[in-house]
Amino acid sequence: MVRLWKWLPGERSAIERENDTALAIAAGSNAFAVFIIDTFTSIESAVAVFYVIIMLLSADFLSRFGVLAAGALCTGLCVISFFLSHGLDNDLATFLRLVGSLSALLITTALLYKNETGRLALLASHHRTKSSEYRYRSIFKQSGIALWEQDLTELNRLLENLRAQGVVDLCAYTRTHPDFPKACVDAIRTVAVNDAALELLGNITHEQAIGPIARFIPHDCPSLFGFVKAFFHGQRRFEAKGRIRDYHGEESVILMAVEFPDDQSGLDRIVIGLVDITEREEAQATMMAAQAELARASRASAVGALSASLAHELNQPLGALLMNAQACLRWLSRNPPDLNAAIRAAERTMRDGERASQIVKTTKAMLSRSPIASEKVDLPSLVEETRSLLEYEIDRQNISIDLTSPPDVPPANASKSEIQQVLINLITNAMQAMEEAGSKTRRISIRLSTSDTGFVVMTIGDTGPGLSDEAIENVFEPYFTTKPSGMGMGLAICKSTVEARGGKLTARNNETVGATFEIALPVENQGRLTRMYDVPQMVAQIG
Ligand code: ADP
Repeated sequence: MVRLWKWLPGERSAIERENDTALAIAAGSNAFAVFIIDTFTSIESAVAVFYVIIMLLSADFLSRFGVLAAGALCTGLCVISFFLSHGLDNDLATFLRLVGSLSALLITTALLYKNETGRLALLASHHRTKSSEYRYRSIFKQSGIALWEQDLTELNRLLENLRAQGVVDLCAYTRTHPDFPKACVDAIRTVAVNDAALELLGNITHEQAIGPIARFIPHDCPSLFGFVKAFFHGQRRFEAKGRIRDYHGEESVILMAVEFPDDQSGLDRIVIGLVDITEREEAQATMMAAQAELARASRASAVGALSASLAHELNQPLGALLMNAQACLRWLSRNPPDLNAAIRAAERTMRDGERASQIVKTTKAMLSRSPIASEKVDLPSLVEETRSLLEYEIDRQNISIDLTSPPDVPPANASKSEIQQVLINLITNAMQAMEEAGSKTRRISIRLSTSDTGFVVMTIGDTGPGLSDEAIENVFEPYFTTKPSGMGMGLAICKSTVEARGGKLTARNNETVGATFEIALPVENQGRLTRMYDVPQMVAQIG
């Protein structure tokens, strides 16, 4: 809507309104007086120029459009007066006086219009600044992040002095002037803080927070020196982790961030944002301690697993070795000594010793970075060899072992000593299961076959009690055992040994009686071996 008056009624006080009214009356009556004098007197001068004074008076209370309207009105009065007093028959001098008066009026109107437009633009910009300041203040106050407004003018002066002296390296300067950091901290003053900062500083009042920053940040704080350095070198942004001491002397770990202005303006109100990360730091320290403890525990368990594996694997050959040595002694101590039997027992002792040594070698190979290479393993002869290794125990328990193998069964691609160890474990388990359960028929059936998928499959079935539901779930888990003196490592080792060769080991119950373990080994080379345990890594952990 077009307004003639500069002010809305609400924008002026009562006195101002009275002044405006008086001015308006004065301007109106002056215009009338000038019109009368101009029209009805014969003064030979440009009386109409006095309209300019009226325009200047009106500029105080008229809007831009008011000024235009007043200009148009004065121009109209001026022209009417001219024709009323001089008629149409005018000399040049009279006409030029009219032109002079009108020009003065037009220029004044234009200048007043421009002036008012400028004033309005200034007002709008002032308004925008005020609302932006308001927005900033409300964000500052309500922000959950602690915000500090610092006056850096004094610090800036200090640094300017140094620059003038030619100082470029603040660290070097500090080495020769140890008091410099203190002077810097003393030069920074807090001018405002928000509620979050008051809380961070120990739930203090705004007045307590205002003043030297040195009360909250010690002068030897490295992040504060970093802040001074960043400012000195004209960086735009600075972020650092540091420590802050609250009003009551309690320390917190904080993250501080600040954005420096491009120019020197605004140095008296630089905002520093602070985030209290004390809890996060404490949680991190606890986590790191827990990680260290976990690493220590896993080193211990790696050592444990390795020793358990070795102990388990060596147990059987060492037991057999002892028994065969005892048998040998018995044959020798007979009267007369049975030398042939003693020789056979001594040979078995040697064989058991070799197997123990083979186990140690295999473990050593696992510890080194070069595991035993795969070879073609003829499974029927491996079964026969293993049977003879366990002969003593098989005979003692009166167990029958039968092997069914098709004539064209291909060799498995694996390590013979490893697969033999797996077979010994499975047969020993079967024998123990049948003995513990007191099975009447004690038979172990080993069957070989080939699969369409390139595997040679060996099943070892027994006539024992079979696997309980819990055992079916857990037999391959390390340390799972149902035996009073068992270690629960055998099947876990067997599974990882077979899998390391690209094979599979599974367990199931037979339809009638007993359990069957099935080993599937690849016929072709499976490429790079995976390890039974990642022993080099374990060793690295132990080291
Ligand atoms: P351990 O012999 O030291 O117990 P294993 O890993 O060799 O450790 O065997 C784990 C468990 O699996 C045994 O304690 C037993 O309960 C079960 N198990 C293994 N083989 C058989 C089997 N042939 N018949 C019944 N249970 C078996």
